Amino acid sequence: MPNPLHDALFAPRIDQETAFLVMDDADDLTHGAFLRMAARFAHVLRDMGLEPGDRLAVQVDKSPEALAVYAACVMAGVVFLPLNTGYTPREVEYFIRDSGAKMVLGRAGAREALLRDCQRLGVRFETLEADGSGSFPETATFARHHFEPVGRAPDDLAALLYTSGTTGLSKGAMLTHRNLLSNAGVLAEFWRFTRDDVLIHALPIFHTHGLFVATNIMLLSGGPMIFLPRFRPAEVRALLPGATALMGVPTFYTRLLDDPEFSRGDCRNMRLFISGSAPLLPETFRTFEARTGHRIVERYGLTETSMNTSNPVEGERRPGTVGVPLPGVDLKITDPDSGAALPEGEVGMIEVRGPNVFAGYWQMPDKTAEELRPDGFFITGDLGVQAGDGYVTIVGRGKDLIISGGFNIYPRDVEQVLDAQPGVLESAVIGAPHPDMGEGVVAVLVPEPGAMLDVATIEAEISGPLARFKQPRHYVVIDELPRNSMGKVQKKALRDLYAGVFADVS
Ligand code: AMP
Repeated sequence: MPNPLHDALFAPRIDQETAFLVMDDADDLTHGAFLRMAARFAHVLRDMGLEPGDRLAVQVDKSPEALAVYAACVMAGVVFLPLNTGYTPREVEYFIRDSGAKMVLGRAGAREALLRDCQRLGVRFETLEADGSGSFPETATFARHHFEPVGRAPDDLAALLYTSGTTGLSKGAMLTHRNLLSNAGVLAEFWRFTRDDVLIHALPIFHTHGLFVATNIMLLSGGPMIFLPRFRPAEVRALLPGATALMGVPTFYTRLLDDPEFSRGDCRNMRLFISGSAPLLPETFRTFEARTGHRIVERYGLTETSMNTSNPVEGERRPGTVGVPLPGVDLKITDPDSGAALPEGEVGMIEVRGPNVFAGYWQMPDKTAEELRPDGFFITGDLGVQAGDGYVTIVGRGKDLIISGGFNIYPRDVEQVLDAQPGVLESAVIGAPHPDMGEGVVAVLVPEPGAMLDVATIEAEISGPLARFKQPRHYVVIDELPRNSMGKVQKKALRDLYAGVFADVS
């Protein structure tokens, strides 16, 4: 029976003993070995009672086994739900409950905190550790190496990726086989990937960038990935001569440039440097070119849509832009209030349509209707402008999202925790330019009348409920938040006021 992702990405490689995951401190895995592991995991998923369409929530460290769980879900028709490893148990409990996940795969360290929630919700909990051990892989030891994939239609769900909303409620973006496969095919072709490519994979695999963009392209084109647990500039620099491509967030590039010795020689075999997930400063683009001779290819995408635009491999790579719409992607700039298409060159809301655009938010028909138009255009929340020759420039975000070190932070998530602290009347959380992280989180606090706020106590208190990457790096206490006539907090005024707080950080 057909299973689109399996048939296109896995089936052609099942008997290939060519390198797929090149590891630093563990054995390398061939395509065949990786897919045999995935098949064993698929048997275990089925034996543990997961049926096609069930959700598997996965909060584990990056490892070949973790990636094989994604492949196993595809084979077994299970919906893969990866979670940021930085989420706290409190945050994870929401995802389990909202998605109705049937099973959670987590680290043993999280077992105690999550087990109670899982038991209450009737959800099974199994473990998987960074070194590939754990109750889940142990059960798979004697499972069969072959798994007959479950039949799936192109519009069946392959993954559920949570992306927080400005309201504070996280939304599960439903991604289908068609969404993921179409984008992988278009990108592999657009970026000219072949089996001769060697990709340095230093991104997390709980986010669309490292999970789908990188992994699916490499499975499709057949080359190996140098699979690193995280991005360490010195290590990546040392590995570059053995690679042809790097996918990164802008911070990767600024960190590489921080090393004064980093230069052209390191990049002698490189074909392509790709950047995305946050804006790449034209200054970084130019410095990188001056030092290495390479013009970074910047692209633009979202969890809900995978990739929408990219600068070309052949043709002009224009700094400060995210390139042109990818083949099959319709893009228009509209008036944020009326939704009417705007004339060329005017700034407005970026809307996109294509086979890459998701199927809606999990069990949130109202939210889906707000952002996905009946004619298929998705309202991205990003403000941009398109030049006559198609190049798109992103000028800001309509949704106040903060992107720090490549991670998305929705101010509302942080504000809710801050507002609950004793003595805090209200708070506003904004991003301020940060030389290293792109943006740093700033908390603006208003005390209750007569209360004295102790920032050190608040910092300590919120470290429990809030993932580390969401915790503010700078605090300001003021008497009153600036508001417009409709009572809305004027975040732009705050951003302007505190734009320089990280200026001296390096
Ligand atoms: P995520 O859903 O985590 O992939 O985040 C999507 C958001 O990241 C988009 O809505 C943009 O605001 C931002 N983003 C992604 N790529 C770029 C880029 N190349 N330049 C500027 N912002 C970007």
